[in-house]
Amino acid sequence: MCKNKVQFQRGYSLRDLFQHYGTESQCIQALFKWRWPNGFTCPACSSSKYCYLQTRKLYQCNGCHHQTSLISGTIFEQTKLPLTTWFLAIYLITQSKTGLSALALKRQIGVSYNTAWSMKHKIMHVMKERDDGKPLGGVIQLDDVYWGGERRGGKRGRGSANKVPFVAAVSLNNEGHPIAMNMSVAKGFRLTEISRWAKHHLQPGSTVISDGLACFTAVKDAECHHISLVTGGGPQSVTKIEFAWINTMIGNVKNAMTSTYHAINPKHLPRYLAEFCYRHNRRFQLEEMMPRFGYVAVRTSPMPYRLLKLAEAYG
Ligand SMILES: [Zn+2]
Repeated sequence: MCKNKVQFQRGYSLRDLFQHYGTESQCIQALFKWRWPNGFTCPACSSSKYCYLQTRKLYQCNGCHHQTSLISGTIFEQTKLPLTTWFLAIYLITQSKTGLSALALKRQIGVSYNTAWSMKHKIMHVMKERDDGKPLGGVIQLDDVYWGGERRGGKRGRGSANKVPFVAAVSLNNEGHPIAMNMSVAKGFRLTEISRWAKHHLQPGSTVISDGLACFTAVKDAECHHISLVTGGGPQSVTKIEFAWINTMIGNVKNAMTSTYHAINPKHLPRYLAEFCYRHNRRFQLEEMMPRFGYVAVRTSPMPYRLLKLAEAYG
């Protein structure tokens, strides 16, 4: 049922994209509307009166003479690319089912690899910032996961070397269907770490179901109820109905990431996980993806290339 609802929704075609955002002036208008839904507002003094300096493409405030461009102070700041290229990249990345690598993006939109990489990571950064501000609520399945390391041999399971630990959580509605998910890289599965994560990503009053791993009791610090089910691990635990969705999601994210990306630098894993969750959390809203993303993008602070290359803060 769920699958059909996703697959057979009206969606948003490339034809729709070109109709709405096919020209630079359409993109400028859209960005203006997303940034200033109630009309121009001066970033310095909040005045609404302005004049547009045609040649320099700047908006000058009539009150304080502050000058701003449409993209300054946003994730698009200092870009040299046409907005149509950006909109196409946003479309391809938000609409793709299993993700799009920087290399694939480069080929599709005709920019250099470094430019494609930077765009891809800026877009993923917007996705992460957005969902980091939306804690999960209701009934939540929670599990500990490790990324990578398996194929190089070595110890399997919890605590292996070369693996990046991350927390996976999925919230369910009353019918037991998944609503939203969050996957966050953790420094390890300790009480303090889960406590910190829970305060950030869970709404107080939620009910959290996990296996018997001791650190998960720390969700109580975020005023959540905790139910611990001892599964004993192994393949049988996958069939346990209480963990059916979280196991499916973990399988999906691992499959999608290994098939789409050649290699993921562990320091950027938080962004890749956020990208996957963002798309999943909006899988019924493909039609509204562009304006929703755009609204958040113009409210996301600039992220220069040198900052993008650093590891993200843990979410
Ligand atoms: Zn002003």
